[in-house]
Amino acid sequence: MDLTLSLSKGEVRRTGDIMTFRTLDTADLAGKRALVRVDFNVPVDGGKVADDTRLRAALPTIAYLSKQGAKVVLLAHFDRPKGKVVPEMSLSFVAEPLSKLLEQPVAFASDCVGPAAAEVVNALENGGVALLENVRFHAGEEKNDPDFAKALAANGDVYVNDAFSAAHRAHASTEGLAHLLPAYPGLSMQRELEALDAALGKPKKPVIGIVGGSKVSTKLDLLNNLVAKLDRLAIGGGMANTFLFAQGHDVGASLCEKDLADTAREIMDKAKAAGCELLLPVDVVVAKKVAPGVETAVRQLNEVQADDLILDAGPESAQRLLAAMDESATLIWNGPLGVFEVPPFDEATVSAAKHAGKLASEGKIVAVAGGGDTVSALNHAGVAAEMTFVSTAGGAFLEWMEGKTLPGVAALEG
Ligand code: ADP
Ligand code: MG
Repeated sequence: MDLTLSLSKGEVRRTGDIMTFRTLDTADLAGKRALVRVDFNVPVDGGKVADDTRLRAALPTIAYLSKQGAKVVLLAHFDRPKGKVVPEMSLSFVAEPLSKLLEQPVAFASDCVGPAAAEVVNALENGGVALLENVRFHAGEEKNDPDFAKALAANGDVYVNDAFSAAHRAHASTEGLAHLLPAYPGLSMQRELEALDAALGKPKKPVIGIVGGSKVSTKLDLLNNLVAKLDRLAIGGGMANTFLFAQGHDVGASLCEKDLADTAREIMDKAKAAGCELLLPVDVVVAKKVAPGVETAVRQLNEVQADDLILDAGPESAQRLLAAMDESATLIWNGPLGVFEVPPFDEATVSAAKHAGKLASEGKIVAVAGGGDTVSALNHAGVAAEMTFVSTAGGAFLEWMEGKTLPGVAALEG
């Protein structure tokens, strides 16, 4: 099921977490300068783009704007130059690979504001594309300085934000600009917003969440938001140990934040009050150390030994999770269920991922997942393409899962 590719047209109104915005197809674009915020903060190896996923993510919006006859002016940040010109952090190396992917020339301007930018933008023909230098070379970017936003806006007639992954930051190019020009989400941004809305804003019920990963402490806001919204929440990974410990189980030498036992109990109480059923492991896979192919054992919760490390959910826990997915219409997932980087501790994560991918591709569930390690785990399981949507937005995705308003998204509301 691909509910996310058939984007809505016209005005999109939402009653859930995601707000109202005008879609790009309503914009008057021919001959207009479209300032497009993209995420080109790509991994680099030897001065070259090492992974072009982020460049590819921007292609649909750039191609659409170009086809509509807009002059496409790309704004992006790269690395952390902290408001100063740092030549090694120039975006110039991105122009050529982008041009290859787009199959059209990409002009490069050595500054994102002022005469150097204006000269390149003014030379664009309708449908042409230019990339401006790193917006973070100016201190006004991260300060969301109104004068800097105005200087950026001087090169545009409309503003398009296609960088969901930067939308949790209120910077001039992600937030300030949206107040100065007619503002629209780009196609990737819209796709992400609609997928997230389908998962948590206005989801088909029942909704199940999976939250895993190493620590409760990094996911407190997320857990608190989810238990208030979901019908079921499976907790896995290292953080499940803290919950098991809080329930009085011995977790041996496992990763466990014992000082958060009270917090874990509060979350369990909150879930109960909100009618959210928590699924904690009922059995666990243990080993004496974390290494590939070490001797492992499956233990019931009352069998964990003092020198055991709990490194994965057990088979019975995994089966229960799969059965709970079968009874759900929506799945939202962040965090692996075990130390998936070190087989065989990837088993519960892989079986849950495969099942989610199968249900999603059969149209039985809307399955949305995100988070750095979660994306790796889904790729490792070979199911990323089968999921309804996989967010690569990292911090922005997590803040959205925490129920926070993302400034870059809120500013598009119109
Ligand atoms: P994401 O990046 O998707 O948000 P996290 O960073 O929260 O996910 O969690 C991923 C990490 O959690 C992985 O490195 C994984 O090895 C670790 N992890 C999962 N289960 C356990 C466990 N039982 N003990 C220790 N670490 C674990
Ligand atoms: Mg991580």
